[in-house]
Parts: sequence; structure tokens; C-alpha cells
Amino acid sequence: MLKYNLSYWERETFFKDFDVAVIGSGIVGLTAAMHLKILNPALQVAVLERGVLPAGASTRNAGFACFGSMTELLDDMTRMSEDDLLALVEKRWRGLQRLRNLVGDANMDFQMLGGYELFTDDDEDVFQECAARIPDFNKKIGAITGHQETYKVVSDRLPHFGFRGVNHLILNQPEGQVHTGKMMATLLHRAEAQGIQIFNGISLCRLEDSSRGWNSKPKPAGHYAYPGYW
Ligand SMILES: Cc1cc2nc3c(=O)[nH]c(=O)nc-3n(C[C@H](O)[C@H](O)[C@H](O)COP(=O)(O)OP(=O)(O)OC[C@H]3O[C@@H](n4cnc5c(N)ncnc54)[C@H](O)[C@@H]3O)c2cc1C
Repeated sequence: MLKYNLSYWERETFFKDFDVAVIGSGIVGLTAAMHLKILNPALQVAVLERGVLPAGASTRNAGFACFGSMTELLDDMTRMSEDDLLALVEKRWRGLQRLRNLVGDANMDFQMLGGYELFTDDDEDVFQECAARIPDFNKKIGAITGHQETYKVVSDRLPHFGFRGVNHLILNQPEGQVHTGKMMATLLHRAEAQGIQIFNGISLCRLEDSSRGWNSKPKPAGHYAYPGYW
């Protein structure tokens, strides 16, 4: 929300009639904006972000580059068919590979260290169910990941990690970790390099139809904030 009028120079330089305004500069907003520019480089694209930096989950998550632990997959299967589950896993896997291609492993410290699922005494039945499904999942999910042994019981590593109260470990080998701060910084730089204009400190509160498209309302009526429309 701007608390002052824009100067002639500011209006001339930064504010124009944009073809598309993307709300939010998280991973989804930035990649959507970048994809639009790839599809049509002539499009004038703006990203409007309420925070000084991207202020959502994209810079606040755990940094797991994951596509499905054994218990997560079994839980998914209570709500969907196996075919749908495999299609979902493929989307997650391909999404991760596309992100790696877009950002570059080195730019986000991507490391394929694997993802571990921990099972305590209380989880014995769940662990047995997971362990029994591993050969089947390795065959079907291996066809997606290209890893023959995507899932593996590695309880022998427990002494190395030193977890207390944990009886079993299942490793998902092609999972990993990313530095999400570096990932988002790279995406911001790439988006700007593509000519996408990113505006921070703008919190959209409503959108209105107009004869020329959409008017976005950054603040309640009163103080003049933006010339024209987005
Ligand atoms: C605690 C936590 C841990 C997670 N851990 C992982 C993980 O380890 N691995 C993983 O893959 N995923 C993880 N996720 C999920 C992942 O972070 C999200 O799915 C992803 O970041 C969503 O991206 P997004 O762009 O849709 O949303 P966001 O990153 O939230 O982006 C939305 C943006 O829109 C802005 N915005 C919102 N409203 C407005 C408005 N009115 N006007 C202007 N701007 C606005 C926000 O400030 C924000 O920057 C985790 C999520 C959470 C919450």
C-alpha cells in the first residue's frame, strides 16, 4: 500500500498497463509468471507481493525435496486408486526434476541425500505393512524415478544416527534437500532477468471487473495509490 503519490518518473518507468498481474511471489507465482513469459515474451507481466520478500510457505518450508514416503503413499491410497497415486507421484517427481532444471542444483544447494522415515514401537504394524509393500512400490515407482531400489529398509543405520526410541528406518533414496532461500533468490533473479516486474509491499484486498480487464485494489478507497490499472 503506497502512502504517497507516484512521481511522473516513477509512473513513466515502473508502472504501465500490464497484460498479466500475478498475485504472490512464492514458487508458484514466480514460476507461473516465468512460464507465461516463455510462452509469450511480448506479454507484460507483473508480480504483486505483499511482503518485502516472498512472505509465504516458499521461504518457510523444511527444504525437503520429496515425492512420497511409504506411509504417505499408503495414506494416499486410502483416498485414491493405485493408478491415481502413481500418476500423482509422477507429477511430484517430474515437478522436482523441472525445478532442478530451472534453478540448477548448485543454485539451491540440492543434495540427493535420501529421505528417512522413522518408526517407533507404536508404529510396528505400520512398518510391517510398509516393508511388505516395498518390492511392489519399487517396481512401480522405480519406473518413474529410474531407481531400481527407491525404498529400502536401512534399520542398520540407526546406531549411526543415534535416534532414541526408533526401531526401523525406511530410506527413500532419490529424495533430498534444497536451500529454499537460495532457490527463491535464484527464481527472483531469473524472473527479473526475463523482464517480469516484481512489486513488493503490495497487499491485494480485492479484484474488480473493468471494461479493460481487471482492476486490482491494493487498499480501500481513499488515498490514491496506482495510476491506471494492472
Ligand atoms: C511449515 C511448512 C513446511 C513445508 N515443507 C515442505 C518441504 O519440506 N518440501 C516441500 O516440497 N514443500 C514443503 N511445504 C510446502 C511448500 O512450501 C508449499 O507448497 C509452497 O511453498 C507453496 O508455494 P506457493 O507459491 O503456492 O505459496 P507461498 O510460498 O505461500 O506464496 C504465496 C505468496 O503470496 C503472497 N500473498 C498472499 N496473499 C497476498 C495478497 N493478498 N496480496 C499480495 N500477495 C499475497 C504471500 O506473501 C506469498 O509470498 C511446506 C509448507 C509449510 C507451510
